[in-house]
Order: sequence, then structure tokens, then C-alpha cells
Amino acid sequence: MLWREKIFGFGLLIAFFFAGGCSQKAIETESPPVDNTAQVFHWKLLTTWPKNLPGLGMAPERLADRVKRMSNGRLNIKVYGAGELIPAFEVFDAVSQGVAEMGHGSAYYWRGELPAAAMFSTVPFGMTAQEMNAWLHYGGGLQLWQELYAPFDLIPFAAGNSGVQMAGWFNKEINSVEDLKGLKMRIPGLGGEVLKRAGGVPVTLPGSEVYTSLQTGVIDAVEWVSPFNDLALGLQTVASYYYFPGWHEPGTTLEALVNKDAWDTLPDDLKAILESASRAVNADLLDELTAKNAASLQTLVDDHGVQIRELPADVVRRLREISHDVVEEAGKGTDLAMRIHKSYTEFLKRSRTYHELSEKAYLEARD
Ligand code: CA
Repeated sequence: MLWREKIFGFGLLIAFFFAGGCSQKAIETESPPVDNTAQVFHWKLLTTWPKNLPGLGMAPERLADRVKRMSNGRLNIKVYGAGELIPAFEVFDAVSQGVAEMGHGSAYYWRGELPAAAMFSTVPFGMTAQEMNAWLHYGGGLQLWQELYAPFDLIPFAAGNSGVQMAGWFNKEINSVEDLKGLKMRIPGLGGEVLKRAGGVPVTLPGSEVYTSLQTGVIDAVEWVSPFNDLALGLQTVASYYYFPGWHEPGTTLEALVNKDAWDTLPDDLKAILESASRAVNADLLDELTAKNAASLQTLVDDHGVQIRELPADVVRRLREISHDVVEEAGKGTDLAMRIHKSYTEFLKRSRTYHELSEKAYLEARD
């Protein structure tokens, strides 16, 4: 600091003290903040995934591990798999009510209670992982998501992304739109609504029930995730055909939920650690699945004889038409739902224009 600035600063200080009562007031309100930086926190985290499920289920485990190491053991998060304390689909309510401080799942599971939530998970024919991450972190998406969950005393963070999923496992070939009629399929979110309007019967089941429901014939088809996660669940042993493209889940975001009251008890550095660890896990899952999906696809085909099929163009076209209607309707209702829809669709529109001549053009050029 230059000497002239020192003298100027001292002058200001003198002037402040001579300004009268406000100096006394300033002293009174400047009580030191509560120092809880030495406090050790023990939290519970409830997930919608089976405990230690490869891929998706490891995201909350890795989140807890990162937070523990980054905080030098000051924030310890114990992860509970689906069904250990509560059923998979009660995570949102349980964390909202403070049964646990945190949760991990995906927002489309709460669509029944909160229709606009599905937009923060994935949208049929919508954004890819790259676009979702850009919208959430640099396009205003995360703020809207946090606004949506605020009345439930929940703070969401993106904490994992699957990338483009597969269209699912079927025991009969899908050759036309007619083949979707009456098809009972495990498919959550807005994709389920699209299948319903195409004549199918969507069912939302947690990961723990996907395998047995197809094995026992309770349902005709399932979509779970992509080769690595599907191989881990053993779906190749209960279905013959593995279809692409994953029109219904082009870049599914997983979420970390934090109870607002619990969040407020954390010192600022632990808040920053939790936020940064979520961001790291969000990127990490996509990296892991990108690497392991490619290897697992090869295993499915070479070692298990899985037959890969592409959905016919007219089926994809029909699903796309219906999806446009479903997404439009998702933007109706509350003022917040309209703002979420507007933000999402405008971001996607701009991104599409640029990706026509970047990602898409490059992938075509590479081939
Ligand atoms: Ca899925």
C-alpha cells in the first residue's frame, strides 16, 4: 500500500468515528461469526440405486469418499442403498423431511409429485450430456432447478451423467410403430409418457426390480442404462435384442440432494467441498461410462451373443413427433415450469445450431 493511501485510509477511519452513533452500532453488529470449522459432521445419504451398483450406484460412494478426503474427515457421509433404510422412490421425500441429510438419484423419479423435475433429468430427443452440463452450469439451468426444489427444503446438484443411453432390451423385434402397441416396458420419465402415447404401457421400476420383472415376464421390455450398467445387471440373460438409439435418455443427469437445514449448518469451506465434489463426480461418471460402455458392448456381442438392433426410422420419427408434444406440455402449468421449459428449449436451439457444425459435423467427417 502506498503511503498516500495509508494516510487517506486513516483519514476515513477518523471521519467514521466522528460521524456519531453509527460507529457504536457498527461495533455492536460485528460480533464474530460462530466458528464451526473444527466441527465433525456425520451425514446419511440415501440412494435410489442398489448398494454399490457398478456405474450409477458408485457415484454417491465416490462423492462421499471425495468429500471425506477433501475435508480431512470433517464431513463423513454414509451411503445407504435403495431399500436399506427406505425404498428407492422415497428418497426425495425422506431428504426433504430430514430423515437423511443427502440423497442421490435422478430427477425424473419425482415427476409424479413435481412434473417439471423431469426436465432436469433428461428429455426425449433433448440435450446430450455435454449440452445438459453446459445448460446447468453456464445456462441458468441449475438456478432454476434449485428454485424448483426450494419449497421442499432441498438443494440439488448435478452428480453424474450417463451420456446417451441404449433404447433397451426386447424379446421381440420392433419393426413398426404397431409393435409398440401394448408393449409393457420399464421406462421412466418423459420417455415413458411418449411410449404411452405410442400405444405402449410404461412402468417405472427401480434398478433392483428391473432384472426380475423382465425375467418373470411381468414386463415385455426394459431400458436401464447402457452396456456397462446393463451387463452388470445381467440383462443379456433375459432378453435377446438390444436396441439403439436411446431416444428417450440422451444425457441423463443424476442428482445429489442436500437437505437445506443440514446445508445451513455447514461452514463455508465444507459447502464448497460438497459442491466441488458433486461437480467432480458429475464429470467422473461420464468418463467412466464412456470408457466402459465401449468395452462392455464388445463383451455383450462377442461373449454373450447379444443381437444389436436399430429402431426403424419410422418408429424413431413417430416417437420424435410425440416427444415434441410431451415436451411442450411439460412447459405448461406453473410460471416456474414455463420458465424452465423456455430456458431449456432456447438453450437447446442455440446449441443445436452450433453443434450442427461442430460435434455432429466432426463425427460425420471422422467416419
Ligand atoms: Ca435409463
